[in-house]
Amino acid sequence: IGRHPTPQQGPQRVAGVQRILAVASGKGGVGKSTVSTNLAVALAREGRKVGLLDADIYGPSIPRMMGVEGPVSAPDGKTIQPLHAHGVTVMSIGLMVDPDKAVVWRGPMLMGALQQMLGQVAWGELDVLIVDLPPGTGDVQLTLCQRTALTGAIVVSTPQDVALLDARKAIDMFATLKTPVLGMIENMSLFICPECGHEAHIFGHGGVRAEAEKIGAPLLGALPIDLETRLSGDEGVPVAAKEGPISEAWRRIARGLVS
Ligand code: ADP
Repeated sequence: IGRHPTPQQGPQRVAGVQRILAVASGKGGVGKSTVSTNLAVALAREGRKVGLLDADIYGPSIPRMMGVEGPVSAPDGKTIQPLHAHGVTVMSIGLMVDPDKAVVWRGPMLMGALQQMLGQVAWGELDVLIVDLPPGTGDVQLTLCQRTALTGAIVVSTPQDVALLDARKAIDMFATLKTPVLGMIENMSLFICPECGHEAHIFGHGGVRAEAEKIGAPLLGALPIDLETRLSGDEGVPVAAKEGPISEAWRRIARGLVS
């Protein structure tokens, strides 16, 4: 972090956007994009105007999870028209490039794409813009925190020690960059057997709550390992867009976040 020069300008706002919330994780595969999509849909169902920006530039999974397909267009040659799904305005690098091709760009190109997605997309008036960050503590996170007026970050982790270890690094990065951590979300916190109702703490227990307490941030919610969550993400209709206890849990988290 120390090697990077301080940007010339201070953090920029995105026109028309009230709050920008970054969803982060230390490790990949812990459910960060699942959290981003479900939170976005739940906030929309709570009556908020919501945007979702997929900044996971090397592995954009938001289009698939939200059930949208590109390419997006810029009819005036300048302003990109985002897509809309489940009440949410969606933009992703995956909607600008061939989804089957690897993104093999260098840092400056990535930053250009990210700035473009923030500044040149017709987001309209939004109460909340959720930004799904790539996992870890790289250039994208750093630049976004320094250049964009983030309201704060939400850190997602499973209760597993190796995931928590990396989540701590993300938390440390946000502290260094003075981006407030608004809370943590524990994903895959337990598995409830659909046959007998037995609860198994497959990835461990209590670690995310303890970490949240340590940094003085709330544990916003704990979500179980859930087949419908996985299937819904794969089919492009987030579980929060449906009815049921998991959808309710997402809406409670959404209410807690913007109340
Ligand atoms: P990340 O963004 O951290 O890489 P994803 O959100 O892409 O993680 O999730 C990785 C995989 O795990 C996806 O297939 C997703 O559907 C699944 N998944 C995430 N959270 C849950 C959950 N609570 N229960 C079941 N499957 C989940």
